[in-house]
Amino acid sequence: MGKPHVLVLGANFAGLGAAQKIREYAHDTVDITVIDRKPYLLFVPNIPYEVFENRNPGLTLHMPIVDVLHEDNIRFIQGEVKALDPDAQTVEYVPSERVGSAPETIHYDYVVVAIGARLAYDEIEGFAEYGQTVSDTFYGEKLRLFLANEYKGGPVAVGSARFHQGTMSTDLVPTAEAACEGPPVEVMLSFGHWLQSHGMGGPEKVTVFTPAAVIAEDAGIGVVNQLLAAASSMGYHYMNNVHDIKRLTKDGIEFANGQSVEAELKIVFPDWKAHSFMKDLPISDDQGFVLTDMTTRNPKYRNVFACGDAAAVTVPKLGILAHMGAETVGKQIAMDMGRMAPEKANVPMHFVVNCLGDMGGNKGFAINSDTWYGGTKSELKMGHIPFLMKMQYKEMFFRTRGKVPDWGIPAADFLIDKLS
Ligand SMILES: Cc1cc2nc3c(=O)[nH]c(=O)nc-3n(C[C@H](O)[C@H](O)[C@H](O)COP(=O)(O)OP(=O)(O)OC[C@H]3O[C@@H](n4cnc5c(N)ncnc54)[C@H](O)[C@@H]3O)c2cc1C
Repeated sequence: MGKPHVLVLGANFAGLGAAQKIREYAHDTVDITVIDRKPYLLFVPNIPYEVFENRNPGLTLHMPIVDVLHEDNIRFIQGEVKALDPDAQTVEYVPSERVGSAPETIHYDYVVVAIGARLAYDEIEGFAEYGQTVSDTFYGEKLRLFLANEYKGGPVAVGSARFHQGTMSTDLVPTAEAACEGPPVEVMLSFGHWLQSHGMGGPEKVTVFTPAAVIAEDAGIGVVNQLLAAASSMGYHYMNNVHDIKRLTKDGIEFANGQSVEAELKIVFPDWKAHSFMKDLPISDDQGFVLTDMTTRNPKYRNVFACGDAAAVTVPKLGILAHMGAETVGKQIAMDMGRMAPEKANVPMHFVVNCLGDMGGNKGFAINSDTWYGGTKSELKMGHIPFLMKMQYKEMFFRTRGKVPDWGIPAADFLIDKLS
């Protein structure tokens, strides 16, 4: 009989990390296959920085993964996943290198769902004509060209549409009204600096908005109050409780609560939705995100795991939580293979919002807080060191080909704490 087959769906932070951790902890006791629609990792968190530095993020933020996986004897399939059948233990995909390929079916013993979320820009009226964003290289480059060729220096609005979180994991994580508000805060702060450095004004032209009562509520109220006080003293404008984006127009944004804001430049983030083929599966919640316990395992189908943005418990949708999930998946599968003791593998994840953002001018902010999850850690630092750590983290990730050493994040936290 062959070795158990672990199939990992998705190969960005969660999927690549999970595949590498499974190989590290379970050694050669399993065969591993990874499927992703593209053969590279997109280093999403640095897109805003690259755009405001006038660099095409497609040139600087893609890390090829086929050889990275091959190094660990992990098979890579470039394919678009179309369906998952947890009873038959099969996944259907269409090879995606060329158009017209026939569907294929692959069997698994274990599956790790790490396909992130569907960023629903297509559900925001007026987005294609009037909207800008920074969540992938296409949109990043579109914004870079807009700033270089069309932007006249008018008012700017930055913020998120309403996130529709599932209701079946509320015993494990609180409910958020925005999927990920680190990026709007980062874009607000760094764009204020961009305006100054381009002689077009400064923070007074920028309004940040949130569907929720407070922006970035998952960072904890202490951190948010400090952030808002700092931003307001710099001149930024703030609108809360807008409920949702109703539509974008040439002149601004209309909100679901009846308010509106004038803006020449509208940088928005959408609802993070589950992929449509995940809806109504017995492993998914009422929105299509995969149900797991805090050890990344589905409660009913014990050979189904999920980590990163695809998991119902991952709220907010943050890369650091994808990293924790990947680590935990690796330990769980190693335990099943008899390569790790249950006391070591069965440690439930304790989430922390750990976020490094750029503020322009070689300065950044660092949030390290778990109060939203019931903890007591609540730290906000601003200055050159958080910026340096953000840049260094990306360098280390590329240099180690995704295998950032265990001390990487704690070391960054320590330096930020002691030197900022
Ligand atoms: C502008 C911005 C800045 C951010 N900054 C930070 C930050 O500073 N810190 C932080 O912690 N987080 C940050 N985040 C959040 C972070 O980027 C995400 O949480 C992280 O990318 C989630 O990783 P993931 O692997 O779960 O999902 P993704 O990164 O979305 O990856 C999903 C993968 O699955 C593949 N895939 C999807 N569907 C299919 C399919 N049907 N078939 C095959 N493959 C498929 C995709 O190609 C992709 O490779 C930021 C997000 C944005 C948008």
